Amino acid sequence: MSDRRAELEARLATVRQRVAAALEAAGRTDGVTLVAVTKFFPASDVDLLAELGVTDIGENRDQEAAAKVAELAHRDRLTVHFIGQLQTNKAGSVAGYADVVHSLDRAKLARALDRAAEREGRVLDVLVQVGLDTAGGRGGAAPEEVPALADLAADLPHLRLRGLMAVAPLGEPPRPAFARLRSLAERVRADHRDATWLSAGMSADLEDAVAEGATHLRVGSAILGSRESHR
Ligand SMILES: *Cc1c(COP(=O)(O)O)cnc(C)c1O
Repeated sequence: MSDRRAELEARLATVRQRVAAALEAAGRTDGVTLVAVTKFFPASDVDLLAELGVTDIGENRDQEAAAKVAELAHRDRLTVHFIGQLQTNKAGSVAGYADVVHSLDRAKLARALDRAAEREGRVLDVLVQVGLDTAGGRGGAAPEEVPALADLAADLPHLRLRGLMAVAPLGEPPRPAFARLRSLAERVRADHRDATWLSAGMSADLEDAVAEGATHLRVGSAILGSRESHR
C-alpha cells in the first residue's frame, strides 16, 4: 500500500468518526453525504479516495476540474460537485462534467446553466448558494433574494433545484449562521419538495453543520491535507 493511500485512509477514517459522532450528538439517524473537496490535488488522489469508498468529490475551478475529471479512472463511480464561484461563460463547460452545482447565486447563471444542460441533454442538480456573510465577502445570493432564485431554478426545465448551500461567514461563530441557513432552507422546502439538500460544513465546522441539519458536507483539508504545498 502506498504511503499516500495509507495517509488518505487514516484521515478519512478520522473524518468519518467526527461525522458519526456529530450525527449521534444531534440525535440524527439519517446520514450525510461526505463530499471530498479535491481542489489542488491530483486525479491520482481522487482515484485512491474512490478505492477507499468515497463517492462524491468537490471542485471549485472549471479548468482544473475539467482536466482532472477527464483523467479519472473511477469516473463512473463518482458524483462530481462544482462548489466554486462560477462565471456565466464557464456554464457550458461545467454542465459537461458536473453532476451537481452548489454555487448558483444569480438568475443569469441559472439561465446559462439551464441552456448548457439542455445542450448536453441532461438535467443538472443545483443548490442556491446563500451569502451568510453580511459583508457579502464569501459569495452567494443575499438571503432575501434566495426564494425568488429558488423559484426560477425550479421552473427551468434542465435544472433540478435540490436545496441550499453556504459557507460559514468569517468573524462570526458558524453555528448561528448555519441556523439561519436552516430556517431559510425550510422556507424554500415548503414551496419545493425536491429541495431537501443542505450543503454546509467544511473541515473546521462540520460538527456545527451536522447539528443544524446539513445533508452534504464539503470537506477538503481534513481528508487531503494542507493545500498550501499544492498551490
Ligand atoms: C475549499 C472549499 C471547501 C473545503 O474546505 P476545507 O476547509 O479544506 O475543508 C468547502 N467548500 C468550498 C466552497 C470550498 O471552496
